Amino acid sequence: MTDTGPLRRMADFDLTETQRQVRAAVREFAEREILPSVEQHEREGRYPREVIARLAPLGYLAPLIPEAYGGSFIDVVTYGVVCEELARVDWVVASAVSVANSLVGGSILRSGTPEQRQRWLPPLASGAILASACLTEPSGGTDLAAIRTRATPVDGGWRLTGSKVFISHAAEAGIFLVAATIDPSRRHRGVTIFLVDPSTDGIEVSPLPMRTLQRDNLAEVRFDDVHVDHEAVLGEPGRGFPILGAALDMGRFSVAARCVGQAQRAIDLTLPYARERHAFGQPIGEFQMVQQKIADMICRTEAARGLVYRLGRMKDAGVERCSMEASMAKLLASEAATQNALDAIQIHGGYGFSAEYEVGRLLLEAKTLEVGEGTSELHRKLIAEFGLGIRQS
Ligand SMILES: Cc1cc2nc3c(=O)[nH]c(=O)nc-3n(C[C@H](O)[C@H](O)[C@H](O)COP(=O)(O)OP(=O)(O)OC[C@H]3O[C@@H](n4cnc5c(N)ncnc54)[C@H](O)[C@@H]3O)c2cc1C
Repeated sequence: MTDTGPLRRMADFDLTETQRQVRAAVREFAEREILPSVEQHEREGRYPREVIARLAPLGYLAPLIPEAYGGSFIDVVTYGVVCEELARVDWVVASAVSVANSLVGGSILRSGTPEQRQRWLPPLASGAILASACLTEPSGGTDLAAIRTRATPVDGGWRLTGSKVFISHAAEAGIFLVAATIDPSRRHRGVTIFLVDPSTDGIEVSPLPMRTLQRDNLAEVRFDDVHVDHEAVLGEPGRGFPILGAALDMGRFSVAARCVGQAQRAIDLTLPYARERHAFGQPIGEFQMVQQKIADMICRTEAARGLVYRLGRMKDAGVERCSMEASMAKLLASEAATQNALDAIQIHGGYGFSAEYEVGRLLLEAKTLEVGEGTSELHRKLIAEFGLGIRQS
């Protein structure tokens, strides 16, 4: 949304009064407390730990974790609105929330024992610990049934050996959700999920140099004969794939919401620029070719937002698995965020590349979300397979 009435009306139209209030409060907080330091954190490659800590007392750190565990859960749509508004100003802060809630906290809530919930959810909700999801391996991330990290049964528990790459928040995390296999030849029937304390002997976290998101400190995580006890297994050995599927459904919801926030940011930065920048004696926003881009930016953002909110409502209505809808929302929203960043740069002309303007940074950050939590190719494949009846939800 911007301050222009029709856009705000459309984005908020079918939200409840509470959801609108949450949006306004998160936006106000994010612009005041997060936005001013994003560029500096990025330049210095500094993880925004202290900014993330400020989310907890306001309830923005654990919007999917129930109050009984110290969280602030209201409903899934509200969770999406929080992710959207945080991502509108900072990819990394929004990612910390979405990984801790959708992938890690949500999995523990759904599949954890009472002891696992008590051990992990309160510190996640209070911000005492952050979370990482260790899924992708050097040999591939799209085909999760081909995971090679081995889980071998030993006296008193399991031994984990293998390597994970592109792991967000790893150097800061107090819990790793790790996907391993008890037998690679069993593919998805071998996948097992472990909840691991990152300070366990044998775990090494090393920085993975990236072209973007310097402030996230993406990492490689190596597991070298790491011993974990039986209580570290989430669910049953060999039954981790459905846990992962449910986690990724919710993960794709929050990633899609984050993409809507990023797409919206590109609009919010572009409209004032197009009003103020002049060429040939008039504001560039009066040229039809600029207007065409602005119209497309608005339409694709609203289309994506509609899919995201509807997916949230399906989850609020208790639909257990919404994999096709999650793929649709994530695909459309991530491509909208990238295209909006491209259009915003074009409308900013040379300033689109200037370090003084935010739109240039948005582009690579948006593009990462066409890759993370399932590439666009994977989502197109899944959607088509659901449509053709080859795959059932
Ligand atoms: C910024 C960022 C943060 C990330 N954070 C995390 C994290 O916290 N935890 C984590 O586990 N991972 C994380 N990832 C990794 C991400 O999830 C993977 O990069 C992604 O799943 C793709 O895996 P890959 O890179 O191994 O590509 P590959 O699986 O090797 O795929 C390469 C290409 O082949 C295409 N392809 C593969 N299979 C098919 C198919 N069947 N049909 C058509 N095309 C196909 C893909 O779409 C892609 O274009 C992150 C990545 C980025 C960029």
